[in-house]
Amino acid sequence: MENFTYARADSPEAAIRAAADGAVFAAGTTELVNWMRLGIVAPPALTDISGLDLAAIALADDGATLTVGALATLNAVGTAPPVRTHAPALAEAALKAASPQLRNRATLGGNVLQRTRCPYFRAEAAGEGRMPWPCNKRVAGSGCVAREAPFDRAALFGWTDDCVATQPSDPVVALAALDAVARVQGPDGIREVAMRDFHLDQQEGGAATETRLAPGEMILGYRIPVDAAARGSAYLKVRERESYEYAMVSAAVCLDHADGTIRALRIALGSVAQKPWRLPQTEAALAGAALDEETVQAAMDAALRDARPLPGQGWKPRLAANAATRAVMMAGGIVR
Ligand SMILES: Cc1cc2nc3c(=O)[nH]c(=O)nc-3n(C[C@H](O)[C@H](O)[C@H](O)COP(=O)(O)OP(=O)(O)OC[C@H]3O[C@@H](n4cnc5c(N)ncnc54)[C@H](O)[C@@H]3O)c2cc1C
Ligand code: SF4
Repeated sequence: MENFTYARADSPEAAIRAAADGAVFAAGTTELVNWMRLGIVAPPALTDISGLDLAAIALADDGATLTVGALATLNAVGTAPPVRTHAPALAEAALKAASPQLRNRATLGGNVLQRTRCPYFRAEAAGEGRMPWPCNKRVAGSGCVAREAPFDRAALFGWTDDCVATQPSDPVVALAALDAVARVQGPDGIREVAMRDFHLDQQEGGAATETRLAPGEMILGYRIPVDAAARGSAYLKVRERESYEYAMVSAAVCLDHADGTIRALRIALGSVAQKPWRLPQTEAALAGAALDEETVQAAMDAALRDARPLPGQGWKPRLAANAATRAVMMAGGIVR
């Protein structure tokens, strides 16, 4: 790890000024310190934003908008009554991430900026940033060892020959299905970015550019529109063990239904691309359809026909289609 300076910021503006001089925001530091240890980043300075007043979670007076501050911890998000009532998919996604200890430090702002769990990306660099194998994310133009070496977490959508990594966050998937909007502040002021477009797949950003956040921009928080589908949302995470494990695939569903008929549906798949993967054609096709497993499974199977699994990953589209189907049934109260 390289030497760095450390200072606490007393306002977003002060932190943004420090970032313009090369400092990196430090929130819970559960990702950042790992990156520094592995040699993924070597910032000259950290600006600690954890003391800023950006952790509030509130429902607006008219009940139509839920706001969650970027510094809210995953445990706070997962247990806050407004989130559990008005956006249960986000609460479940937050509580299914990491471990209880990590969730007490990990913030929702830092969570959406976590990077891939590709094991080749997470290798420790030897002296002067030398990598034990090619990884275009670590050394641009070096290649992608995951195309040839064993790798069971590759993307199904949006990947290129340069990189097949996925975004592993749970909350990101829920935020995309909920049509949440991130409020971000930079040197030029405040703007909003829809969470379904916040991340970039490799076809959009190459191996290197993973989000639409500009250098030095800070996430202040998220605005979540509350409707019947958000209140009826659910999150399903499929993983190799029930705790402290990343998703093989996941699905967030927002569902409005009545009398056995789907009125409105929004679906995002997780860990299948470098961004949460919305299924707009399936959402449109299922609006007005019967809320039964056979109908929903047929639509999900059709949606996953566009998947491009790497050799040896033929099981993954089926897993994703089944997870999405089950998440709809969970949101509909048909299965638990
Ligand atoms: C062992 C382990 C298991 C995990 N398992 C899961 C899991 O199952 N599911 C899951 O979803 N996540 C998982 N995580 C990821 C974890 O949730 C994230 O590490 C955490 O949420 C990051 O938040 P942080 O506050 O610690 O970010 P930090 O480490 O402080 O920052 C991470 C990055 O975000 C930037 N940043 C932080 N806050 C802001 C902001 N407000 N604006 C702009 N930039 C910002 C930092 O500059 C840095 O680049 C796991 C992590 C670990 C270590
Ligand atoms: S999949 Fe992406 S992160 Fe993994 S080795 Fe290839 S280039 Fe690196």
